[in-house]
Amino acid sequence: MAYFEFDNTHSKFCFRHIVLQPTTLCNLDCDYCYLTDRHEPNKMSVGVAEAVVASIKDAPHPITILWHGGEPLACGIEHFRKLVEPFEQLRLAGKINHNIQINGTMISPDWCRLFREKGFRVGLSIDGPEGCNVNRVNRANMPAWDRIMKGVGLLKINRIPFGIIAVVSEANIDCAEPLYEFFSSLGCRSVCVNIVESEGLNKEKNHLREKDVRRFWSELFDEWRANPVIRIREFDNALGWLKRVSDDFEQHEYFARDLWPTIAWNGDVLMLSPEFLSIPQEKRDEFVTGNILNKPLTEIVEDSFSAKYVKDYFAGIKKCASECMYFSYCGGGQASNKYFELNQINATETEECRNTRKLLVNTVAGAFTSGKLDSIDAAKSASVNLNKLICSLPENMQPRNYSCFDRHQPEAVLTADEDSTQVDWSDWSDKES
Ligand code: SF4
Repeated sequence: MAYFEFDNTHSKFCFRHIVLQPTTLCNLDCDYCYLTDRHEPNKMSVGVAEAVVASIKDAPHPITILWHGGEPLACGIEHFRKLVEPFEQLRLAGKINHNIQINGTMISPDWCRLFREKGFRVGLSIDGPEGCNVNRVNRANMPAWDRIMKGVGLLKINRIPFGIIAVVSEANIDCAEPLYEFFSSLGCRSVCVNIVESEGLNKEKNHLREKDVRRFWSELFDEWRANPVIRIREFDNALGWLKRVSDDFEQHEYFARDLWPTIAWNGDVLMLSPEFLSIPQEKRDEFVTGNILNKPLTEIVEDSFSAKYVKDYFAGIKKCASECMYFSYCGGGQASNKYFELNQINATETEECRNTRKLLVNTVAGAFTSGKLDSIDAAKSASVNLNKLICSLPENMQPRNYSCFDRHQPEAVLTADEDSTQVDWSDWSDKES
């Protein structure tokens, strides 16, 4: 039976997002990149795209397609148009929407036309102003900054809303203030902040000191509160969770967690974390639960529940649920972080969860609790102060009812929900594409 929702003792699971890898190739060579095959020119075939469409055409709810590379635009616009075409009937029927995560350097007027024509939601990767963006370089180790900003300009001229994913590493962890100033005037609708992670090729590098991460969140939160003009996913999630906790934790229901089936360029399907695509091919087979060219996606997802790494993941979640007070915020973390950091997925705490969940939530809670957030009760007891803080925010910056379970939720998806956030196009409206 084809099904799209699954129950597990500690969480509900579904898939409402599918990651598609149109190509492994990327034209950049960012210092913290985790992808092993980013120099390989592999391209997804139209047959793979057609097989995905056949698998999801009867889904009982809309599905978000996230095109993610490599650099998706590196597969060339003519080929990409062919990959998108099989989805067109579903898109027109409101059954799918397209999201794309890009590095910004290959945007052209033709790509902008395609984004508009097919209703793409665009997420762009940039780490802040020029001095903060030093990790984003080309293969000659030259800064990609100018080309990224040219791409930003094209999106703005063509009035294509976009969101940002910014990676925070040693290069910009001391730059919370210039980071916020830059993003709040860039014309983006919202920002996702990813503290650099140890995974794939980037496994051994970029460990940050806890006190630096703590200071970064604290300074960024202060900047945002002083001038809340763009949504920051992390503050949205943390405030939303704290509000739910302080309102009525007992009745709080865990969100259904997305299984994030990821379809590699050759049709291989991996579950839980798109980052598993960075595992070298000789080991990757352990994570492949089927191939879309041989079996419908719903069956592959169903089969994946018997894969060892998926079972390990559930076991890790069970431990997280019993040990960690942040579980209803976090949902048990990402399988890929546990695998790359701890070499086992049946596990709990990682550096990633300390940096991007615990320290973040504690920093946000510090704005309305006098003491340490050492229990859920501490958050509940300070609900009056929390409500005051939330009420002081403009209406379009009020937290939504998210958990951060779907940390992979693309920036572009958040952007699309942000109709209430105004973008000032005035500087750009008289320029030509
Ligand atoms: S914060 Fe870490 S330890 Fe706690 S539930 Fe999440 S992954 Fe598990």
